[in-house]
Amino acid sequence: MKPPAFEYLAPASLDEAVAALAGQDAKILAGGQSLVPMLNFRLLAPPLLVDITRIPGLDYIEDWDGGLRIGALTRHYTLETSPLVKARFPVLHAAMAHVAHLAIRNRGTIGGSLCHGDPAAELPGLALLLDAHLKTTKRTIPVAEFYQGALATALGEDEILTEIMLPALPTGTGWGFEEFARRAGDFALTAVGVTVGAEARIVVIGAHETPMRLPAAEALFTDRADIAAVAEAARDEVTPNSDLHASADYRRHLVEVLTRRALTAAWERAA
Ligand SMILES: Cc1cc2nc3c(=O)[nH]c(=O)nc-3n(C[C@H](O)[C@H](O)[C@H](O)COP(=O)(O)OP(=O)(O)OC[C@H]3O[C@@H](n4cnc5c(N)ncnc54)[C@H](O)[C@@H]3O)c2cc1C
Repeated sequence: MKPPAFEYLAPASLDEAVAALAGQDAKILAGGQSLVPMLNFRLLAPPLLVDITRIPGLDYIEDWDGGLRIGALTRHYTLETSPLVKARFPVLHAAMAHVAHLAIRNRGTIGGSLCHGDPAAELPGLALLLDAHLKTTKRTIPVAEFYQGALATALGEDEILTEIMLPALPTGTGWGFEEFARRAGDFALTAVGVTVGAEARIVVIGAHETPMRLPAAEALFTDRADIAAVAEAARDEVTPNSDLHASADYRRHLVEVLTRRALTAAWERAA
């Protein structure tokens, strides 16, 4: 399938890109791994694409006081293979292996995945789990305020995500990431990421229009002995829809099983 006709601009700086987007019915193009299929399926027909991949200085992974600052144009494959990511955020490293296929990970960018906001995508869920702050050309947005619905974010039309800031995890934090998909590389039917330390954080992917934290289940967790009860509470806290791929009941069941597995792994890692 072919996309509808569009004008194409490849600005050399963020200022030029913002100027090109202003007042236009335009779309930003990064890795193209979500946008181009949507154009080809004629789900979108923007008259202008603004390709940001030639803007220098947006592809990096740097120390940030024990955490990381990641440029929006950093490719999935770079995240997956970064020793810094593996050392500081092993849960993110583990999740990256579930993102699509190698060819897609070679082109897709962290910024593109976060801004696309697919409810079943790993990176928005990991950003929520890790309490990311998202820096744009206008402001810094806590990730908890970023997602507004399926494929809907707080970004304005002419606002570009430039950096993802991940604060350091406390020493000794345990983590777990469990995903169920029909085939390797498919979007998750459901996935669960957790961290345990002074507090437990549980994030579910693929069971809601946006990635979702489960505060009621989190509040029940203090010890390994709580894991089964927390997993049941997690199941009861989600209200997924039935769709072509899975019924709501099946997704709830997955939330319970995956939460139990992820918390068990996290507890052992923390210990
Ligand atoms: C067959 C297939 C399987 C896939 N499987 C998975 C999977 O299992 N898990 C998963 O998470 N993803 C999956 N993906 C999606 C993939 O990860 C994409 O790379 C990613 O979602 C989008 O990143 P991109 O850089 O390609 O963005 P693009 O496709 O270029 O852009 C996506 C959207 O984000 C906007 N955008 C991009 N960058 C910015 C920015 N810096 N600021 C503001 N807006 C921006 C664009 O305007 C567009 O609306 C799959 C894709 C395909 C084709």
